[in-house]
Amino acid sequence: MSASISEVARPFVQGLAAGELRYQSCADCGAAQTLAHYACQHCGSVALAWRTAGGVGTVYAVTEVKRAPSDEYRPLAPYTLVIVELDEGARLMGHAAPGVAIGQRVRAGFFEHLGRQLIRFTPG
Ligand SMILES: [Zn+2]
Repeated sequence: MSASISEVARPFVQGLAAGELRYQSCADCGAAQTLAHYACQHCGSVALAWRTAGGVGTVYAVTEVKRAPSDEYRPLAPYTLVIVELDEGARLMGHAAPGVAIGQRVRAGFFEHLGRQLIRFTPG
């Protein structure tokens, strides 16, 4: 029995559509992760539950994207991508306001691009 990646990630995608950041929480070791996996990346447990994050975290990495990797993102370029460590412990990639810096506290918001909900972090 196997589920496709899109089935595993469905709660995350549905959360975005509802304006919520959802992450997986391991019932065995408490680790949190945002990319949908079958098992905990920390201890290998499959006892994962979906939870909704508060959307506040700290910038862990910043990348300025001058040339979009696909036609879909070209209208947005140049843009800023960040990896944010949410207060719940999971790391999540999203767009960000220009000028955000590593270590800065940010809050997640959402914007729609070509019919998809994308994450955008802003200071505060
Ligand atoms: Zn675990």
